[in-house]
Amino acid sequence: MLPKVLPMTRRRRVFEGKAKVLYEGPEPGTLVQYFKDDASSRDNRKNGTIEGKGVINNRISEYLMLKLGEMGVPTHFVRRLNMREQLVREVDIIPIEVVMRNVAAASFARRFGIAEGTPLPRSIVEFRHNSDELDKPLVTDEHITAFGWASPQELDEIMMLTVRINDYLSGLFFGIGLRLIDLKVEFGRLWEGDDMRIVLADEISPDTCRLWDVKTSEKLDKDRFRQDLGKVAEAYQEVARRLGILPEGVILDVVEKKE
Ligand code: UDP
Repeated sequence: MLPKVLPMTRRRRVFEGKAKVLYEGPEPGTLVQYFKDDASSRDNRKNGTIEGKGVINNRISEYLMLKLGEMGVPTHFVRRLNMREQLVREVDIIPIEVVMRNVAAASFARRFGIAEGTPLPRSIVEFRHNSDELDKPLVTDEHITAFGWASPQELDEIMMLTVRINDYLSGLFFGIGLRLIDLKVEFGRLWEGDDMRIVLADEISPDTCRLWDVKTSEKLDKDRFRQDLGKVAEAYQEVARRLGILPEGVILDVVEKKE
């Protein structure tokens, strides 16, 4: 029989981030990942709420993690528990955000003086340290291995998995009329006895990917929030609708508060 999952309030909170809360799971080695409606930009200049986002991202991330799992990409995902929560395996998070870029956008376009929307000669990977206090600085493989955030072997595995994730998701999104401009993924170490595997962790959603409509180049991701483009919740809803997984009864109003 499956262990009973305690209601949210009775579980011990392990970590609270900007968009998610992690609670102790129902059995050792598991966590419950709770998706909030809160949104912020990386520089924290903008904070707000996108109503219904947590419900939609929980669904989208479940769907994409399961698809990637079927493709042979190991993930931390176990199963969705309810509208806002999913059960995941507890992993030792590697403190690096891996960003894969297919098309120039945002800070990357500015950094290199390339027009936003220019396809890159090939997909380019970048790494950021995941520290909010340090404003997630760009780092190279030299920093990662010298500071011991990941070993050279682990970094090879992370690169191989990221290329597969990007290739697979580019195709999946193209099939529903969306261009995967870039994406951010995080990985963790999953221990099974003495064996360790690198697995995909965190989430994959319009919070962590840039998705543009193939025909109109309309942005259907968190940039609508970051850049005050309006219709933020509708964009998340549209991505879920195209994936064929729109949850019913989600209220889609955007309530933003600026600080
Ligand atoms: N991203 C993310 N979390 C962050 C910052 C960015 O998931 O805290 C995602 C973002 O949605 C985009 C990719 O990572 O898909 C590249 O983002 P970056 O921060 O490099 O964006 P830029 O600086 O180009 O706005």
